[in-house]
Amino acid sequence: MPRHVAIVGNGAAAISALETFRAHDRESRVTVVSGEPCAAYSRVLLPYFLRRKVPYAHLFIRDAAFYRDLDVDLLLGSTVERVDVGARRLELANGGTIPFDRLLLAPGSSPVRPPIPGLEGPEVHHLWRIDEAGHLDRLFREGARALVIGAGFVSLQAAWAARQRGLAVTVIELAERILPTVLDEEGAHILQASILASGVDLHTNTRTEGLARDEQGVLRVSAEGLPHFAADVVIVGTGVRPNDHLLADHVETARRGIAVDDTMQTAVEGVYAAGDVARGPIVGGGPRAIHALWPTAVEQGKIAGANLAGARVAYTGSLSMNVTEMFGVTVASLGRFAAEEGDTVYRMDTLPGIRYLKVVLREGVPVGAIALGGPEAARALGYVRPYVRRRAPVADVEAVMAGTHVARGVTRAWAGTRPGPVNEPIRERDLCA
Ligand SMILES: Cc1cc2nc3c(=O)[nH]c(=O)nc-3n(C[C@H](O)[C@H](O)[C@H](O)COP(=O)(O)OP(=O)(O)OC[C@H]3O[C@@H](n4cnc5c(N)ncnc54)[C@H](O)[C@@H]3O)c2cc1C
Repeated sequence: MPRHVAIVGNGAAAISALETFRAHDRESRVTVVSGEPCAAYSRVLLPYFLRRKVPYAHLFIRDAAFYRDLDVDLLLGSTVERVDVGARRLELANGGTIPFDRLLLAPGSSPVRPPIPGLEGPEVHHLWRIDEAGHLDRLFREGARALVIGAGFVSLQAAWAARQRGLAVTVIELAERILPTVLDEEGAHILQASILASGVDLHTNTRTEGLARDEQGVLRVSAEGLPHFAADVVIVGTGVRPNDHLLADHVETARRGIAVDDTMQTAVEGVYAAGDVARGPIVGGGPRAIHALWPTAVEQGKIAGANLAGARVAYTGSLSMNVTEMFGVTVASLGRFAAEEGDTVYRMDTLPGIRYLKVVLREGVPVGAIALGGPEAARALGYVRPYVRRRAPVADVEAVMAGTHVARGVTRAWAGTRPGPVNEPIRERDLCA
């Protein structure tokens, strides 16, 4: 029976859910509500845009015709403030309401701004939304001085982009080392050497104490143990938080995401969640987790979209995987790469194009890996990924990593973490409300 499906969000999870839903159901009414004013775009490509590798128009992954063809009521620039589960309706910030029979929450996550005094003003941005990337693009003038607070995956990509655009870059990280969730200590050490070699002034184990404007209106930064310095642009990359507050009246989130079962349904009947907001099943079992990654959002969106249409499909679980190129190094990690007691660890640093390669196995089954080097590093992880995902034992790890052995039924083709086909340039007037 046709019904009204509402989708909150317009990112990777929402778009993949919408497409899958429409493949099953052309009759029901669908409303997509997005707080941002533009058609769907790729956050993954924002650093590439800042590096001038991808033009602005190529950031968009869907155009106005896409929503028209799928017969969607699209509400751009409308923020959902509350989900009234009892009345089955969304309450919008502008006072409007949207009724629904079934709902997908795909609102992603939001960056957290730490309570550093003076961390405000037109020079201060996150690298999260497309408008923020636009502001940074304008501030990235050759010779300008950039401060990057935090040395996580997104911050370092921002620092690399700033450096490539000719800015003087200082990165300040509170923790003892860079990328703690993406690399082990040895991998971090290798990347850190390349960061320093690129001319970035990197300080770990250092607290940003505050920012203040001098008489000329320039931001001056004070950081533990460093002389005061000026910044023309500040990028804040100190972590993100799932936008799970929309269902907080109905399910316990503790700001750790909305728990979903393997159909992506929340504890509320007919209400689903997917993407960065969803604490879902993971490969290999264990406690549900958020893997805030583009491929996870797409996979979960597909499952949610099918189930919203009543198809009853189950998710086999997400796998944490990061692949990027920064500071001239391809950095790739996958699954549980920190070895535990009883694991076997393989080191293979002699493969062509690889500077550091580590595979962690549990009872003969690869559970995680790290690779750094040239593009070959990403390829090597692509070879082992199907084994980790399927929990398939490996007899000859070296042959797998060298790409000379491929498991039966496993394809070598690997899409990586970049979103798939980017549209042809889209006329900008089609893109934003
Ligand atoms: C700079 C950057 C680089 C990245 N690089 C990679 C990478 O290399 N590989 C990778 O796998 N992942 C990467 N990621 C992470 C990846 O982009 C996310 O995991 C993915 O976009 C999550 O998709 P989503 O659909 O859950 O949420 P999002 O893409 O964040 O979409 C959520 C949407 O919901 C809207 N919304 C939120 N709240 C509301 C509300 N209350 N009302 C209405 N609308 C709302 C938001 O405006 C947004 O449009 C990167 C992220 C960033 C920022």
